[in-house]
Formats: sequence, C-alpha cells, structure tokens
Amino acid sequence: MSTSMPATLRVLTGYRPTGRLHLGHWFGNLQNMLKLQDEYDAFYFVADWHALTSEWQNPASIRRYTEDMVLDWLAAGLDPARCTIYRQSDVPEVIELELYFNMVLPMSWLERTPSYKEQQQQIGDKDLSNVGFFLYPSMMAADIVVLQAGAVPVGEDQAPHLELTREIVRRFNATYGKNCLVEPQALIAKLGARVPGTDGRKMSKSYGNGIFINDTPDEIRRKAMSFMTDPARKLKTDPGNPAICPLHQVHKLIADTDRIESWEQCCQSAECGCVAHKREFAEDLVAYLSEFQSRRAQLDKQPGYAWEVLEAGANRVRPIAKETITTCRQLVGIG
Ligand code: SF4
Repeated sequence: MSTSMPATLRVLTGYRPTGRLHLGHWFGNLQNMLKLQDEYDAFYFVADWHALTSEWQNPASIRRYTEDMVLDWLAAGLDPARCTIYRQSDVPEVIELELYFNMVLPMSWLERTPSYKEQQQQIGDKDLSNVGFFLYPSMMAADIVVLQAGAVPVGEDQAPHLELTREIVRRFNATYGKNCLVEPQALIAKLGARVPGTDGRKMSKSYGNGIFINDTPDEIRRKAMSFMTDPARKLKTDPGNPAICPLHQVHKLIADTDRIESWEQCCQSAECGCVAHKREFAEDLVAYLSEFQSRRAQLDKQPGYAWEVLEAGANRVRPIAKETITTCRQLVGIG
C-alpha cells in the first residue's frame, strides 16, 4: 500500500451485485476494504447500475444480491461509522455526469480501454453487445468523479484501468477551461493473491468453482474433498509439490505458518496423503468462516437493516454529488 497519501483522502471502490461472494472476493478485495476504512475516508458502493449493463435480461436478482452484499460486508467487519456504504442508483447525479463525459469522450477511447476488455472477458456468458455496456467505463469515471474521490484502490498491475478516468477528467477540464474536477490517483494496494477455485483455475462465479463465504459447513467439506491438488501426484507414495497444489495455496491463506510448513514437508516426503490434507483444510475453513457466518446470521434477523445502511450512506454522498453536478452544469452551459 502506498504510504504517501494523506489519511483524510477520499477513496472509492464499488462492486457489482451479480452473485454470492466467494473466497476470491474475501481475500482479493474485502480484506483490503477492511483496512482502508481505518486508513482513509472510505466510500464503498454497490454498483447496481453496472450490474444492469450485463444483467438486463435478468434484473430480478440485482436487488437480492445488493442486500446480500451489504450484509456480507457488514458481517465481515465494514462499519458504517467508519466508512460510507451506498448504492449507486441512489445517486442519480452519476448518470448526469456520465452524460457530460460522453460528450467529450471519443468512442475510440472506450474501445481500447483495458477495463472494458477485461470485463468483457470476465462476463463472457452474457450478451454484452448493448450500448449500456459499451459505456461502462464512462459510468465508472462518473462514479469516481462525482464523489470527487482522490484515489481508487487498484492492484499492482491494474493502474491502467484508472487511466481512462484520468484522461476523461483532463479532457473535460481542458474543454471547459477549469481545473474543477479531481483527477483520481491510483492507490496501489496489495490486493490478495489470486485465489484458485476447486478446479485450479481462478475462483470465479462463471467457472462454477467457488467456495462461497456463506456455504454451510457441509458444503465446504464437500467442496474441499473435490478440490484439485498437485495434478502430478497420483499415489500417496509419490512425493508432491505444494507449490503447484491449488488446495495448498488456499490453505496458506487461513492456516498458521507452522502447520503450512509441516504439510509442505509431509507432502514432499510422501509421508501424508491428499485426503487427510483436504479434511484438515475443510475443518480449518469451517472454523475460519464461523465467526463471520454467525455475525451474518444475526444480521439476517434484522430485516431492512441493509437498506437502512444504504440510505444513510446515500444521504452522505448526495450533497457531494450535488455540488459536483452544480459546477458541471455551469461549465457545460446549462446551469
Ligand atoms: S498432500 Fe497436500 S500439499 Fe501435497 S499435493 Fe496433496 S493436498 Fe497438495
């Protein structure tokens, strides 16, 4: 994590409510969000309009996943007193700002942006030939800029994803002759390692290889037993290679170093088998998630709580968004 940013810096990050959260989300993003809420003025939004760009044929699930995502965030430790949690569609100024951006934005910029291409690959099972999805990076820029966010957390190799937003801001500011919009910086975060799924590929909803953070203990045990291990190790008597074992990579995220080293030694010397390791991994994961899951069960007993949190968050965001839009309307000549 960069240490050059001031503690009061406003940072923003958002996620599309298109499915249940799995361990890839837990280690890849959520742990970083927990840290940021104590280090910055952190804003987290549920990107339901972004979800609509790919889920427009099946929009009924967006509302349910919005609520689920907020409850998962809260159960994981995000605290509405230390960060702001809101829903994108509660801030209509985002759409207005996107419209102004679309006027200054050459189409060729959208076509070449890496985040657009990456999203297309990640959401490969949907019809993404619509204009709404084509404009996805412009809406992303509006999300960031409407809030005057100074920084956006990105992984070490993801800084180019923010570059289009920065270019749009520069072009807008240059076109209208004012440096009124904040050009966001990349907050280089050490996002969690790529988490392998049960088949060894990156854990992903579309691959069907995820362990969800709300899976029951029995579901976790069943998935653990089918988890891929070192593919070259056919027999218990063959020495294994933990470095290429997907199950071991996930186990390392939750178990202490001594036990991990002990499994490595045991595997390399062919003294222990994969079934025993899978069993231990399953029990460790059940224990690891139990505190989160019991907090989540408590939150489930508070119907409407997620929506209250989102409403309170939107009330904090709207005055900032209104201020940005008032300035932009004047600049584009319709204020
Ligand atoms: S013993 Fe453990 S580390 Fe070795 S291949 Fe099997 S599951 Fe992986």
